[in-house]
Amino acid sequence: MRKLIFFLFLLTLSTTIVSAQQYDLVLAGGRVMDPETGLDAVRNVGIRDGKIARIAAETLSGHRVIDANGLVVAPGFIDLHQHSQDLASQRVKALDGVTTALEMEIGVPDVAQFLKAKEGHTLINYGSSASQVAARSLVFGAPLPVGTILPKIGPATDEHATPEQIERIKERLREELDAGGLAVGMGIQYTPGATRLEVIDMFRLAAERRLPVYTHVRSAGRVEPNSAIAAVSEVIGAAAITGASLHIVHINSSCSRDALECLSMVAGARARGLDVTTEAYPYIAGMTTINSAVFSPGWQERLGISYGDLMLPDTGERLTKERFDVLHNSSTARWVVIFDNKQEVIDKVIPNPLVMIASDGLEGHPRNAGTYSRVLAQYVREKGTITLMDALRKMSLMPAEMLERSTPAGHQKGRLQEGADADIVVFDAATIRDRSTFEKPMEPSTGVHYLVVGGTVLVDDGKIVPNVFPGHALVGPGKRAAAND
Ligand SMILES: [Zn+2]
Repeated sequence: MRKLIFFLFLLTLSTTIVSAQQYDLVLAGGRVMDPETGLDAVRNVGIRDGKIARIAAETLSGHRVIDANGLVVAPGFIDLHQHSQDLASQRVKALDGVTTALEMEIGVPDVAQFLKAKEGHTLINYGSSASQVAARSLVFGAPLPVGTILPKIGPATDEHATPEQIERIKERLREELDAGGLAVGMGIQYTPGATRLEVIDMFRLAAERRLPVYTHVRSAGRVEPNSAIAAVSEVIGAAAITGASLHIVHINSSCSRDALECLSMVAGARARGLDVTTEAYPYIAGMTTINSAVFSPGWQERLGISYGDLMLPDTGERLTKERFDVLHNSSTARWVVIFDNKQEVIDKVIPNPLVMIASDGLEGHPRNAGTYSRVLAQYVREKGTITLMDALRKMSLMPAEMLERSTPAGHQKGRLQEGADADIVVFDAATIRDRSTFEKPMEPSTGVHYLVVGGTVLVDDGKIVPNVFPGHALVGPGKRAAAND
């Protein structure tokens, strides 16, 4: 009897040891890179219950073991600026290495509806800011339809808000933050009627909630008094006045050929203790709607471009004055690609240490599908102007740190460390490249062999796994407080 008990004891002990060593998934023998700790070594990564449970030199056993030999194993990329949130876009994002794609620039018009619609149907992690543009449209009696983020030109974009209207905009933003908004999102250029004081009031609201403001600044181009320099000064001033953190989106397109000047302004603000951050995407052209306020009279002088620098994304048609007038005056909001920057500028912006990579992803522009692998191919491999580790920092750790200003969940992202969320990209640094072009904007990138989202394999041997939806919501403190009540 004693022998039997001892035997059973041994059996229990050995199964305990085996189960302790058995991981759900093991990524074996890859070059494991973590921009926060600087780890860059061949390691085995054990994943259990959606988390990175172990990073070790010794062999790990798992229900599934993926051979990552010769491949880079890095934190999945976090895109702070992704507009197209449908499955087609999520697929190309996943194949570009992205495990989290957030709509932070402007935000969706209805955060609760957005979160509900996406729950359980999403490939990669998601979330949104609370949209000042949508709140303003609502208060002016022209609510934005679900699925849109930009208003057409009208009173909601062009008129000054009364003090009462500003209070109602703030009230709506508070509701949206309580619904899970991660920040206040502003597209000041799309609401030129917003006064400087209205902008400061929105920053005050963000500061009251201790949340950042993400903004597309008021104006682009070089013509004073409404230059990009003035626009960046405006939001840095609002951050200084209110204490809110500020993230200036797509400095490459907002500041265009003055992007390096704008970066020096961000650096100056940071040197004086302000929390100001920024991002860029690696393309010389931007994209927006042709009947938005970007194209109010004088746009050619402001942007230093003409009709032929505008292109329709679906056909590749370059515009003429006649064609522009028809489309600009139409009630249909069509997207248009704007070639307004120079390659030399982009080539200096992307390696700048202040610049995070964010795609501003929209179907119709190649940045939606190709941003991350394009940086890895062009700047790390071909031009050699960024180290691989620094590129990973720009794509994972820096946006995770930005996200920490909105949610403690940000601490578990953007890191290849024990205890972090198992959001992981496994790619071939020698071959990864973008394939999307202005003619074929949805061509997926190649070189991402595996993508793991919350411990679930979403890209397996370079292909999307059908019928898995591992994406989870990231929500702001308003929603979390409500859940704890
Ligand atoms: Zn924008």
